[in-house]
Amino acid sequence: NKMVYYFGKTKTEGKGKPKNLLGGKGLNLAEMTSIGLPVPPGFTITTEVCDQYYKAGENLPHGLMDEVAKAVKKLEKELGKKFGDDSNPLLVSVRSGAAVSMPGMMNTILNLGLNDAATEGLAKATKNERFAYDAYRRLINMFGDVVMGMDHHQFEKAFDKIKKKHNVTVDNEVPAEGLKELCEAYKDVYKKHTGEDFPQDPVAQLELAIKAVFGSWNTDRAVKYREIENIRHLLGTAVNVQSMVYGNMGDDSGTGVAFTRNPNTGENKFYGEFLVNAQGEDVVAGIRTPQPVAEMPKWNRAIHRELLEVKKTLENHYCEMQDIEFTIERGTLYMLQTRTGKRTGIAAVKIACDLVKEGLISEKEAVMRVPPNALTQLLLPSFKTTARNAADVLCKGINASPGAAVGKLAFTAEDARLRKDAGEDVILVRRETSPEDVDGMSAAVGILTSTGGATSHAAVVARGWGKCCVAGASDVQIDEKAKKIRVNGKTYGANDIISLDGTTGEVMLGSVETQEPKLSGDFAKLMKWADEYRTMAVRTNADSPADSKRAREFGAEGIGLCRTEHMFFEPDRIVHMRAMILAQDEQTRRDALKKLLPFQRKDFEGIFKAMSGLPVTIRLLDPPLHEFLPNEPGPQKEMADQLGVKVGEIKKRNSALHEANPMLGHRGCRLSITYPEILEMQVRAITEAAINCAGKKVKAHPEIMIPLVGTYQELAILRRKVEETIAATIKAKKFDGNLDISIGTMIEIPRAALTADEVAEHADFFSFGTNDLTQMTFGYSRDDVGGFLPDYLEQEIVEVDPFQSLDQTGVGQLVEMGVQKGRSTKKALKVGICGEHGGDPSSVEFCHRVGLNYVSCSPFRVPIARLAAAQAAI
Ligand code: ADP
Ligand code: MG
Ligand code: MG
Repeated sequence: NKMVYYFGKTKTEGKGKPKNLLGGKGLNLAEMTSIGLPVPPGFTITTEVCDQYYKAGENLPHGLMDEVAKAVKKLEKELGKKFGDDSNPLLVSVRSGAAVSMPGMMNTILNLGLNDAATEGLAKATKNERFAYDAYRRLINMFGDVVMGMDHHQFEKAFDKIKKKHNVTVDNEVPAEGLKELCEAYKDVYKKHTGEDFPQDPVAQLELAIKAVFGSWNTDRAVKYREIENIRHLLGTAVNVQSMVYGNMGDDSGTGVAFTRNPNTGENKFYGEFLVNAQGEDVVAGIRTPQPVAEMPKWNRAIHRELLEVKKTLENHYCEMQDIEFTIERGTLYMLQTRTGKRTGIAAVKIACDLVKEGLISEKEAVMRVPPNALTQLLLPSFKTTARNAADVLCKGINASPGAAVGKLAFTAEDARLRKDAGEDVILVRRETSPEDVDGMSAAVGILTSTGGATSHAAVVARGWGKCCVAGASDVQIDEKAKKIRVNGKTYGANDIISLDGTTGEVMLGSVETQEPKLSGDFAKLMKWADEYRTMAVRTNADSPADSKRAREFGAEGIGLCRTEHMFFEPDRIVHMRAMILAQDEQTRRDALKKLLPFQRKDFEGIFKAMSGLPVTIRLLDPPLHEFLPNEPGPQKEMADQLGVKVGEIKKRNSALHEANPMLGHRGCRLSITYPEILEMQVRAITEAAINCAGKKVKAHPEIMIPLVGTYQELAILRRKVEETIAATIKAKKFDGNLDISIGTMIEIPRAALTADEVAEHADFFSFGTNDLTQMTFGYSRDDVGGFLPDYLEQEIVEVDPFQSLDQTGVGQLVEMGVQKGRSTKKALKVGICGEHGGDPSSVEFCHRVGLNYVSCSPFRVPIARLAAAQAAI
């Protein structure tokens, strides 16, 4: 197989090749070259080579360096410079780049090819000694870091000494003489820590660098990032070797990063930052604070204009917002990278809608462009205006990633993780973040940094996750050791609460009240398009009128799961519930249940009203009864006093109800088999509520759902009971209108799925309760997976938490079989899914594939499910 793909004026071999082979960076460098943008020529070593490297025990495959040498020859010819030349050397960067972008995960080496002699030559050829030694010191530093795994503090210390000696504070003020000294100092540091001299042979440098890039694919931090982002099935990283252009040649040079549109708001305005006389990562590393590109015309109007042209060219080519990296060498612009820009959910929606307006994409494409989970950010809370106006603003940083976060201060990634696991909301406060911090960043509710800009590591990562981030809040002085920050003369510690506004960049003292988002404009437009394409209905899980109302605003088309047990926990109700459980005989039980009936009826009426005209699936009592009794002596005493019984009696009932495996015990339909009066009360409440609604011209469509059925006999018996109760209630109420009540079951026990053809004879509908179905198919107790799931994920025994994303191969088979068998008996059987999976985009896609009529999920996930269902249908 071809291992090396050239890009340059002479030919562009990578154009149109798969991204999996060349990596995103390599492919886009080839594409940009082919559409005539100014890209320094170079070549890409494929991801296949990375795979081979690992398969061969971390050795480069045979013939690779020969192919590399040939490509270098081609470069030399195109540029008229020689690699390793003493007078005017060809220098290259060595850049990693996988098919999926991983910001900051793998490091780039710049200025490779320099050595002592070549540096002198470069100084002469460019008549710029300062520049040449600046390039060399960067190479030694990066090479030490990336290839030899040195600690960069070693280099920083040496740099600080030189800065002090020359009486300057900023790196670009160090004179040529100082940089020369610095190179010597760096070489000493290098030798001291590696035991070797800095390699003077450029080809050796190149080979080592290529290996290092491959090596970086499997560093802990890269592995961790892929884990958090759930990136799998990639061969590895490609290596891009590209001729250097220099942004550090003086004040007519510079480097920058930009987005073709605003990645926070989506506004169609070029957005980014640049630094004059700087190279490479200086912008991203947050070492100096860059200028916004809007100010570029003051520096160089022509370049700014050219960049705006580039924006147009790129957007017309990719039909998508781009994230670019560029360098200006002595007044000439070069493009070094482009990729699809990461953006907030808000921006994703706006950009998709705008691109439709601009005729670049169709409505259908727009629907496909927005990742369903990104909508979470639009549904995010923000701060209440009144509360915000009254808040004590400590300082302001850069609004790096929108949202509202309230939490206590954590000063290290580790601390953030520990405290999050202990249940605290924390805000990670760092001078700047680096890839080592990602775990803590993921644990924090928000991120605050004191240096770096809108394209710093913290900002990019936070935005990708939809996490609130304020960056570069330079008024915040951080003392990591003492766990304190100092802002405008005042000190705050680990237990102080701050509120971050990622939309404005403000840092406020204390806990500022948040509010719910608005759902109009572009969001509504996109949802309307989504609704046109999707074929599956989306319902919600809700058990109160308030939740029902909110879910309807989010577009829910009914309730797929109304849990009735939550209704019993309110103080004025739990008493009767407990009295019912303590009852020794049926009559006492019925008396207690009678007192619960009005409460249930009222709840149902409220929900039917909120969902008027839409179906409401009500699940009859499901949990084991002991869940309603107190365990602690205090509450037991209280209960005894309330009910006028002895504490001993409660204890006795408690131990009688005790089960070894409650989730497999006396619950679900089994309760209704032994205590049919509970079912009767609930069905009566539902029927009476429906009758009352009919009187008020509210259309109620209750669907009575019997949980935990494993055999058709259970359903047959209980269905009869339900029908009898409905008939009796109608008769007692002397109701002569029409009620639209259907009776169905949950499929959540594997046996029910296996015998779904029999079960369907007694059911008007099925709803897959995939939480229990997952629990019982895997044999994992949902409440106890915490003990082993992390290890299972780490050892890749399972790819994802099966309670979050449906296990399509195993549990999914039962779902599919259940649907088919059920419909073999009843062709028009209505089938849906309730449980957490209903709001998970990949599970929604699966549900569409196996022909479900609807999914049901929590109110906040309804828009996500609508979009996911549309994407599944397209
Ligand atoms: P990352 O994936 O971390 O962004 P890159 O490979 O894009 O790493 O390199 C980081 C930066 O290094 C680039 O944005 C660019 O400024 C600089 N750089 C890389 N290659 C070159 C080159 N050939 N000439 C000049 N600068 C380069
Ligand atoms: Mg990098
Ligand atoms: Mg880059």
